[in-house]
Amino acid sequence: MSENYDVVVIGAGPAGYEAAIRCAQLGLKTACIEKDKGKDGNPTLGGTCLNWGCIPSKALLDASHKYVEAEAHFSEIGIEVDNLSVDVSKMIARKDAVVKGLTGGIAGLFKGNGVTALYGTGKLLANRQVAFVGHDGEEQTLQAEHVILAPGSVPVAIPPAPLDGDRIVDSTGALDFESVPARLGVIGAGVIGLELGSVWNRLGSEVVVLEALEEFLPMADERIAKDAQKMLTKQGLDIRLGTRVTGAEVIGNEVVVQYQDAQGDHALSVDKLIVAVGRRPFTEGLLTPDCGVNLDERGFLYVNDLCQTDAPNVYAVGDVVRGPMLAHKGMEEGVMVAERIGGFKPLVNYDTVPSVIYTHPEIAWVGKTEQQLKADGVTYNVGSFPFAASGRAMAANDTQGTVKVIADAESDRILGVHVLGAQASELIAQAVIAMEFDASAEDIGLIMFAHPTLSEAIHEAALSVSGHAIHTINRKKK
Ligand code: FAD
Ligand code: NAD
Repeated sequence: MSENYDVVVIGAGPAGYEAAIRCAQLGLKTACIEKDKGKDGNPTLGGTCLNWGCIPSKALLDASHKYVEAEAHFSEIGIEVDNLSVDVSKMIARKDAVVKGLTGGIAGLFKGNGVTALYGTGKLLANRQVAFVGHDGEEQTLQAEHVILAPGSVPVAIPPAPLDGDRIVDSTGALDFESVPARLGVIGAGVIGLELGSVWNRLGSEVVVLEALEEFLPMADERIAKDAQKMLTKQGLDIRLGTRVTGAEVIGNEVVVQYQDAQGDHALSVDKLIVAVGRRPFTEGLLTPDCGVNLDERGFLYVNDLCQTDAPNVYAVGDVVRGPMLAHKGMEEGVMVAERIGGFKPLVNYDTVPSVIYTHPEIAWVGKTEQQLKADGVTYNVGSFPFAASGRAMAANDTQGTVKVIADAESDRILGVHVLGAQASELIAQAVIAMEFDASAEDIGLIMFAHPTLSEAIHEAALSVSGHAIHTINRKKK
């Protein structure tokens, strides 16, 4: 059986489902193929982000943060709570319900917009034909005018720590522990290691994080990373930098992890071990040799700035192509490709992709770090503002962290904004908007911000670039 489509999308993660919905909105006959099955064994849409990534991790981060607030901070504001306890199975069930609601929502959006959802596996053949094999064994060859590849990524595995699906797990397994492990090991102090390490630490685990690099979060602003490391350490994350894991073995009821650092060889016994050492593009079974799409030297699908592969009218978006592996980056690429197919000319601005680490406090940034600007020989001014001086942060009993605004020394144009603090994930959007519109630090200083809000810290940090901040002593005086 063969069917013709204007667009066939392979993969219904954030990059693929947004591309499919936008194509259908533009009047294109669109099918989206998805092979994933959810935790309940039923076909599911939404990809890693909705099923095993962004959403379930944030559900557990938000829940565990509320627990810490109640356990450690409510009494500071005059609320006494007795007999506080955690019901892990209820917490996990709520997380699953959030996932179910959202993935079902994508199915509804497909239906409402007229996207045909095909549940099974897609493979790109020559001349934009796609071989589809359904979960029920049904086989179809689809003929498409345009194909969008969005197969996403999977966790990287490391030979010294093979997963056993019970005690040694990847991020997916770490979202479903049945109880709070007393001792938890995490390999990798990256985004996943810090977020999921925080979840279980907040709920009571003793957490040791083993990180290969000597530097903590080298991609973040150096000062912010140092401050964040101190805060997370204070919360109980035992972050050991410059370590090399040489083995991990399940012995009885525990995992014994062997690692080396500058002091020599060590053994660490834990109840569960999370391996979170990065993700890799997933292209297994996706391409036939004559389909015309090539990989780059790191195994990503090769694309240009417009997400065009080497095969005419075949595009690739999301984690499977170069750039940060972030849901919002993939979403923007998916929409850009859909609109280009529809005859419009949008671009993705890769200079303003925000990064967020949802620890507490949150760490968020957009644009350049000081260390990058120094390496590029760019001269700049810095303004900063501590949340300790923010009325709203004080009122909320959450004063950790800083906002830092970096502006070009000549033009005052904002080059980077870095936030460590409560709701940094929300605050950073203001910086993204400012940078998209090429704002200067002075522009932000001239805008009125509601009082009292955490956002005022952005205003004050921007004012402090030129020494005009009101609620802190300026580094530079004018
Ligand atoms: P995916 O979401 O991986 O989706 C690809 C889909 O394609 C999958 O469902 C897969 O089954 C399907 N597929 C693959 N091959 C085929 C085929 N041949 N046929 C049919 N279907 C196929 N990012 C953020 O921006 N913010 C966060 O807070 C965040 N938190 C995260 C937390 C965790 C624990 C993890 C693991 C990731 C997190 N991410 C986060 C990253 C985010 O999940 C990814 O960047 C995003 O999902 C990538 O979207 P995508 O559409 O490219 O790929
Ligand atoms: P990551 O790249 O953020 O961190 C992996 C860490 O593991 C790095 O610090 C690396 O140096 C370390 N590492 C690598 N090999 C090691 C080894 N053998 N021993 C010890 N340490 C080792 O990757 P991740 O945390 O797995 O996350 C994967 C992707 O998912 C990231 O690209 C991230 O963008 C995305 N993600 C994003 C969010 C978010 O936006 N909040 C949350 C989770 C995941």
